[in-house]
Amino acid sequence: MTNIFDNAHYIKPERLSILLKIGLRLTAERDLERLLRMIIEETTAVMEAERSSLFLVDREKDEMWAKIAQGVDTAEIRFPVGTGIAGTVGKTGEIINIADAYADPRFNPAIDKRTGFRTKSILCVPLRNMQGAIIGAVQVLNKRSGAFSADDESLLTALASQAAIALENADLYRKLRELNSTLEEKVEERTADLVAANERLSILNQELEQISITDGLTQVFNRRFFMERIRQEVKRVSRYGSSASLLMIDIDYFKKVNDTYGHLAGDAVLAGVAGLIKGKLRETDVLARYGGEEFVLIATPMENNGAAVLAERIRDMVEKHTFRHEGRDIKVTISIGVSSWSPAIRENYDELVRLADGALYAAKEDGRNRVRVARI
Ligand code: GH3
Ligand code: MG
Ligand code: MG
Repeated sequence: MTNIFDNAHYIKPERLSILLKIGLRLTAERDLERLLRMIIEETTAVMEAERSSLFLVDREKDEMWAKIAQGVDTAEIRFPVGTGIAGTVGKTGEIINIADAYADPRFNPAIDKRTGFRTKSILCVPLRNMQGAIIGAVQVLNKRSGAFSADDESLLTALASQAAIALENADLYRKLRELNSTLEEKVEERTADLVAANERLSILNQELEQISITDGLTQVFNRRFFMERIRQEVKRVSRYGSSASLLMIDIDYFKKVNDTYGHLAGDAVLAGVAGLIKGKLRETDVLARYGGEEFVLIATPMENNGAAVLAERIRDMVEKHTFRHEGRDIKVTISIGVSSWSPAIRENYDELVRLADGALYAAKEDGRNRVRVARI
C-alpha cells in the first residue's frame, strides 16, 4: 500500500507538514459523514482546486457512490465501477491526471450537467485499504493555476492514503459500535428474562412454602407448623413474660359421622369446622390441624380467663351450626381442653400441650360438648 512517506521526497516541506496535520485530524474523526466532509474540504484547500469529490466502492452492487460533494450533502450519486474517471480509477487503481476533461472519452459529463459546474482539469487517485484493495477514489477538479502537476499527484496520493486509513478506522468503529449495541440489547433481553424467571420462581417458592405448612383438607396450618410455632411462642412468652394459651379441640363422636354419612361427608364436616373456627380468630391466632379430627389453637395474649371464654364461644358456635353435605344436614359438637402458660412451664412447650390434652380428656369424660381448663 502507498504510504505517505513513499512520496515524501516529491512533496514540498510546507505541504508535507500540512499533510501530517490533516492526517492527525482525519484519524481522530469517527463519524463517517463528518469524516467524508472533512476529507473533501481539506483536499480542496491543500490541492488548490475548485472542487473535490470522494467516491466509495460499493462491492455488493459493483458501484461507486458519493453523498457529499464539496462539503455539502447532496442526493446520493451512484454509477457503475469502471465508468467515468472516478469509476475507472475505482476499477484499475491507476492515477488519472487530465488537463481537459471534455477531450477524454472516459469523462462522463452527466454530473456537470446536473450541477452546472464546468470541469476542466481532473486529478483522480485511488483510495486503498491496508490490504491494498481499492475502497474508493478521490478526485480534485480545476487546479486554480491551470492543470495538476506530478507534485500534485504525489500530494493527493499521500492524502488519499491518510483518508483511507481514517475511513477504515471509522468503519471499524461503526462495526464495533453496532456489535456493542446488539450485545447490549441481548444482555438487556437476557436480564429481563432472568428477572421474570426469578419472579416466577419466587412466587412458586412462596406457594410451595405455603403448601408445606398447610393442611390440604382443611386449609389451616399443619401439625409440623404448629409444633414449630408453639415452641417459638412458649420461648417468647417465657422471655418477655406475656401470656399464651393453647386450645385443643376434638370433634365428638366423629366416627359416627363417618359411619352415618360416609367418609366424604366426614371430610366436609372437618373442613367446615376448621372454616367456622377460622372465622372467629384474630390475626395473631394460629389454628392448625393436629391430627384426625383434632385441632389446636394458639391464642396470644389472653386476659385472665380469656382463653376459656374464646373456647366457649367456639364450642357454642359449632353446636349451633348445621353442616350440609349432599343435601343432608349434619350436626356435630366439639370438646375443648384449654391450657395457659405459667412461669412454672418455662420453655417446656410440650408441657403446655400435655396440659391441654389432659383438659380435653376431662371434657370428654365429663360428657363431651364442653370446655375444660387445665389446673396447674
Ligand atoms: P370422641 O368423641 O371420643 O372423640 O369420639 P370420636 O369418634 O370422635 O373419636 P375416635 O378417636 O374414636 O375416632 C376419630 C375418627 O375420626 C376415626 C377416623 O376415622 C376419623 N377421621 C380421622 N381423620 C379423618 C379424616 O381426615 N376424614 C374423615 N372423614 N374421618 C377422619
Ligand atoms: Mg373425636
Ligand atoms: Mg380424636
